[in-house]
Amino acid sequence: MRIIYVDNAATTQTSKKVIDGMLPYMYEQYGNPSSLHSVGQRAKEVLEEARAKVARCLNANPNEIYFTSGGSESDNQAILSAAEIGLKRGKKHIISTKVEHHAVLHTLNKLKKQGFDIQLLDVDKEGFVTPGQVKDAIRDDTCLVTIMYANNEIGTIMPIKEIGAVCREKGVTFHTDAVQAAGHLKIDVQDQNIDMLSLSAHKFHGPKGVGALYVKKGIFLSNLIEGGAQERNRRAGTENIPGIVGLSIALEDATEHLEENNHKMIILRDKLIEGLSQIEHSALNGPHTNRSANNVNFCFEGIEGESLLLLLDAKGICASSGSACTSGSLDPSHVLLAIGRSHEVAHGSLRLSLSESNTEEEIDYIIEQVEQVVCYLRRMSPVWKELLTGERQFML
Ligand SMILES: *Cc1c(COP(=O)(O)O)cnc(C)c1O
Repeated sequence: MRIIYVDNAATTQTSKKVIDGMLPYMYEQYGNPSSLHSVGQRAKEVLEEARAKVARCLNANPNEIYFTSGGSESDNQAILSAAEIGLKRGKKHIISTKVEHHAVLHTLNKLKKQGFDIQLLDVDKEGFVTPGQVKDAIRDDTCLVTIMYANNEIGTIMPIKEIGAVCREKGVTFHTDAVQAAGHLKIDVQDQNIDMLSLSAHKFHGPKGVGALYVKKGIFLSNLIEGGAQERNRRAGTENIPGIVGLSIALEDATEHLEENNHKMIILRDKLIEGLSQIEHSALNGPHTNRSANNVNFCFEGIEGESLLLLLDAKGICASSGSACTSGSLDPSHVLLAIGRSHEVAHGSLRLSLSESNTEEEIDYIIEQVEQVVCYLRRMSPVWKELLTGERQFML
């Protein structure tokens, strides 16, 4: 059976170009950049070339880039660093949103238990926060604002530049989880007023287990991992040279083809949204404008997202019922709840996240199969029966 992969917000296929670029650093040129001999020094050069490449893609300086093990580590390090310096200055207020990734929310939860005052801003029904909300929330004791660039579940693209401007004006550090944005949306850390930014290679056709953290010169950064002096004493451990090379190639490639890829995906995305909207008692989650080019997320009333997912999988369609991290738990998505979906409706959600290699033909097949499977599940659903008889009210 042919597999149609539409779960690119969970992870992407590592591109051939990236793999080819990585291979030499696992076999012929396997040196440790900390070694003083020629093989080690060559690895050191390669590491710094990769850092310069990543910096160029973000309009940053190479010494503002730190390599990590991925998006989660970058988020943890950025937030915990800001909290540490905040504590020293007697500032324990942190502003974020209700729709962040768990790498951010769980880190904030940990800080809350340590006595930090965590304020999670509400979002509107499309998932947006406004710069005005951030401005109103900032206090004298605010040490950090952390707000994601693009939402991994519903594709909302936040007004990052304007939020950054508000933070800058008030002198508060601004971190953004740009894991769904890097390689997909334009990033210019200077123009967009960003102090810290997280990204992860496997979300833009790079390898898994490698990410980066941009930290503006002058912003305090402490280390999560103690040990050697790698990454200018901020991230111990022998550098993942193949991974870092892969990340740099993937980011450069994605950045160069950004507009072309987005143009292609938007056509596919809108066709998919149009097609799925025809299913009765369904609703698009997330915005119509300022939406990630690859994101489609729907709720279908009267069914369970998990069953939908499994039946689609049996037809060769790999999708997600929300975020990959919440799949497997019974709690509905915190993002769908935050945009005002009820628990019941939120349970019937489906996320399809595209890549530029999906085709129109695949989109047609997905629409047809989702229609069939939703219909099939509704026929068996006691909730659907109650909706039809009026014992229960339709919400969509
Ligand atoms: C995937 C993702 C992460 C986590 O990145 P990893 O590299 O898998 O640790 C964090 N934030 C967002 C928005 C993501 O989509």
